[in-house]
Amino acid sequence: MRWSQTLIPTMKETPADAEIPSHQLMLRAGLIRQLMAGAYTYLPLGTRAIRKASEIVRQEMDRTGAVELSMPALQPIELFERTGRRDAFGNVLINFPIRRRDHNVHLALGPTHEEVVTDLMSRLISSYRQLPMTVYQIQTKFRNEERPRFGVLRTSEFLMKDAYSFATTVEQLNESYQKMYDAYCRIYSRCGLEFIPVEAESGPIGGDASHEFMIPADNGEDRIVRCDSCGYAANLERADTGRNHQAPASTENQPPPETVDTPGLGSIEAVANFLKIQPSEMIKTLIYLADDKPVAVLLRGDHEANDGKIRRALSAQTLEMADNATIERSTNAPVGFAGPVELKIPILVDHDVSLMSTAVVGANAEDKHTTGVVPGRDFTFDTTFDLRNAEAGDPCPKCESKLEFVHGIEVGHVFKLGTKYSEALEAEFLDEKEQRHPLIMGCYGIGVNRIIAGLAETCHDENGLIWPVSVAPYEVELIPLNVSDPEVMKHAESIYSELQQAGIDVLMDDRDARPGFKFKDADLIGIPLRIIVGGKGLKEGIAEIKWRRGGDAEKIPLAEAANDAI
Ligand code: ATP
Ligand code: MG
Ligand code: MG
Ligand code: MG
Repeated sequence: MRWSQTLIPTMKETPADAEIPSHQLMLRAGLIRQLMAGAYTYLPLGTRAIRKASEIVRQEMDRTGAVELSMPALQPIELFERTGRRDAFGNVLINFPIRRRDHNVHLALGPTHEEVVTDLMSRLISSYRQLPMTVYQIQTKFRNEERPRFGVLRTSEFLMKDAYSFATTVEQLNESYQKMYDAYCRIYSRCGLEFIPVEAESGPIGGDASHEFMIPADNGEDRIVRCDSCGYAANLERADTGRNHQAPASTENQPPPETVDTPGLGSIEAVANFLKIQPSEMIKTLIYLADDKPVAVLLRGDHEANDGKIRRALSAQTLEMADNATIERSTNAPVGFAGPVELKIPILVDHDVSLMSTAVVGANAEDKHTTGVVPGRDFTFDTTFDLRNAEAGDPCPKCESKLEFVHGIEVGHVFKLGTKYSEALEAEFLDEKEQRHPLIMGCYGIGVNRIIAGLAETCHDENGLIWPVSVAPYEVELIPLNVSDPEVMKHAESIYSELQQAGIDVLMDDRDARPGFKFKDADLIGIPLRIIVGGKGLKEGIAEIKWRRGGDAEKIPLAEAANDAI
């Protein structure tokens, strides 16, 4: 591409309303222009960067075996009513009536596609033989953000890669989740981003396990806590582990807990047997230590999706916890414990304790269990590790080293959804025995615009952007110093076409302007490799090659310049 034939409106001055470097630089380098609050045009350089990032995302999605499709942005509001998300999204959901010939239809602009994709799968999937399956799209999303800000970091309309996995078992879900998690790591690495995966709250999407991918950046809107020693990292949005259980509004009608004899109940299976339920019916497991013994709190659930979860929870968490736990005596005792025990480190495998009114508590006393426990009324957890109130230097909840805090930009998010959407929208499959079950889902989002804005925010110097080659709008910028000199242009044109033929994305600054002016613009737009043709070098038969990220310029014989860049 020739500069004179495209649109790269660079700006010398920093626009007054742009507060942070990425916003300032994306405007100044001619990547974006604002239409109105929260809506931006991507100019050619911006569009190319988005396209490159999208292509990396697409390649890595394909590599996981996910299949690409494309769903409408226009969606019937009824789907959001059926899943309860019309209310959950509130004002964020853009929705409006439209007039069809003789009736009104109420539509929403998709903020994500859980509803649409689940509805689709309810029609297309019938048998376990078709599963597992993951689908994805790269598509525009709409959210009426209360505060669109920071340029394209938070807009009302943005490009998201959203993927959805469908499974018959939790094991399958976990496998898909892990594949996505790994793909996300590859995507951000390939895009040249520093990133931290953190434990996250799942927000209005619901579900019970989720990670966010954060770019550490001072201007990031999220606050992350992390521990250098053990790698623990979490978003402070996440109410860590739900230790502040509120008693239900009324406990009058709830019978007091009862301790019953349960000789020999040492395993999940044994407890299930005692309760006359399938192990798979026990949905939530809280594990903690009392008198140095791991104790499980088992909550009843409905579907076998949770069987594997409990097994893993028991095998993984009890071991992990034993090293860390400290126990203090107090009067604030969880019911069913032999002595009054306050738990310093309650490790909660699942946090949805609201389900606990039907709970069965594994008691610490040998051969005893307690039933009918009401959290909040009958026990509370220690709140020492409510990370929302934590400060730098506080001990890590996993390993007790010192915690640190950083700000981050959320560039991606993976969730285990479970059956929230498939139950609401009746998306089911038949198992080997012709039994119906809801599909077990996961969903996985990447903000493509935020990859670009996040790079702009973290990869620049005082002169402008510094693109990694992988997502740079162009890989090479060719600068003929004097375009009215036929000799200069002869060599520049020859390098230009050689690079193009080799499949290199090259931008030639063919403007009739002073070299200093062109160099400034080159620094600003941040193309990784620069080739300069003209001046003294030309007489010596050489071109100059220089990396934007730094280092000395190299002198290369003109005839080899293109080859060297390739
Ligand atoms: P945030 O916490 O920043 O509002 P979110 O948690 O609401 O983001 P998700 O629903 O997890 O966002 O969407 C998946 C991804 O889409 C996010 O990780 C983020 O990269 C991107 N994204 C979300 N909202 C916006 C927005 N308004 N503008 C640009 N990208 C966005
Ligand atoms: Mg949001
Ligand atoms: Mg978020
Ligand atoms: Mg999120």
